[in-house]
Amino acid sequence: MGRTATAERVVLGKGRNSRRALFADTHHPCLGSECTLPYSAAGGKQSVNRQALDELKQQIPLLDYLQAQDWQPVRPLSGGRWMGLCPLHADRKPSFLVDAGKSLFYCYGCGRGGDVIRFAEIYHDVKFRQALVLLRQWRGLAPLLQQATDFYRMQLHRHTEAVAYLQQRGVRSPELIEHMRIGYAPGGGCLRAWLIESGYPLSALRQAGLATSFGYDAYVHRIVFPLEGNLYGRSLSAAAPPHRFLPSPKGGLYAWEQARRYPEVILVEGLFDYAVLWQSGFHNVTCAMGTHLNARQFQQLCDSPRTVYLSFDADSNGSGQQASQQLAHRLQAHGILTRRIVLPAGHDPNSFFVEGGDAAQFQSLLEAAQP
Ligand SMILES: [Zn+2]
Repeated sequence: MGRTATAERVVLGKGRNSRRALFADTHHPCLGSECTLPYSAAGGKQSVNRQALDELKQQIPLLDYLQAQDWQPVRPLSGGRWMGLCPLHADRKPSFLVDAGKSLFYCYGCGRGGDVIRFAEIYHDVKFRQALVLLRQWRGLAPLLQQATDFYRMQLHRHTEAVAYLQQRGVRSPELIEHMRIGYAPGGGCLRAWLIESGYPLSALRQAGLATSFGYDAYVHRIVFPLEGNLYGRSLSAAAPPHRFLPSPKGGLYAWEQARRYPEVILVEGLFDYAVLWQSGFHNVTCAMGTHLNARQFQQLCDSPRTVYLSFDADSNGSGQQASQQLAHRLQAHGILTRRIVLPAGHDPNSFFVEGGDAAQFQSLLEAAQP
């Protein structure tokens, strides 16, 4: 996509009744409507079956895909169109137009637009073919994970041990449980039975990692948090490994669409750290699910000028502090300001709040954070 093409699109966007022209012009370059023959993917080496692409796009409505990435429409326009903040650039006022009927988007801020494939390319920063792979994976996994999430959420309040564990970790507010869509995996074969009854073959469950090779539920006695294309399960039992993910990528930063709107962002290690901070009113918090950020998470933190407050565990062996120091250096090299929050020895944000810390005290730690 050349600069000229982008400029033309912005001009088109200013005209009245330019909606058709606008969208007609913002198709992926590979998806031109005049194109009748199977066309080449970017790079031109392998041809892509046009019919398969049309099917893929039909199966993944853009609005569904956007919402699965945490995008929220801010205001409705006529004709099933929506405006919202642009997930592709640091947007302060809603510039992102989505035509749900046509499954097309256009951003008045960064001038980019197109279909779900184009969106996936830009959003995940991948080439055309890789975007197709990601979308196909998502198409296969998303409905299954949604069903599993719904099932786990129904179980949460039926199991006193799950609610007691959440209490013990400081998770109390119903708004927080709703916001994080927290569920509970009782184990045995109940998820399997539920999903098979819903029409999924056992092979699909095994492939997704929801069932073991023996056909049992993979998540047993675990609090479950849905992530982007994955599920995090925290074991209630000390006998099992504490953390469990499905064998797919852990995805981007947790709830990034909410956190990225703030000029100052708090980055924590674990979802229970995230939970207590969010519950105490710090909505500018995000979580990397570990101290090691994947490339996408790192790129998200750098997507706009901001200050990142790092709040990793203050372990006795210093590994959390070492990780946070290394990350601070890498972020600074990309022009991001960083501050390191110093928690009392042996604490993480979760234990800090669980053992009586409050929002005002954490705010003082934020203010005292060191560069
Ligand atoms: Zn934009």
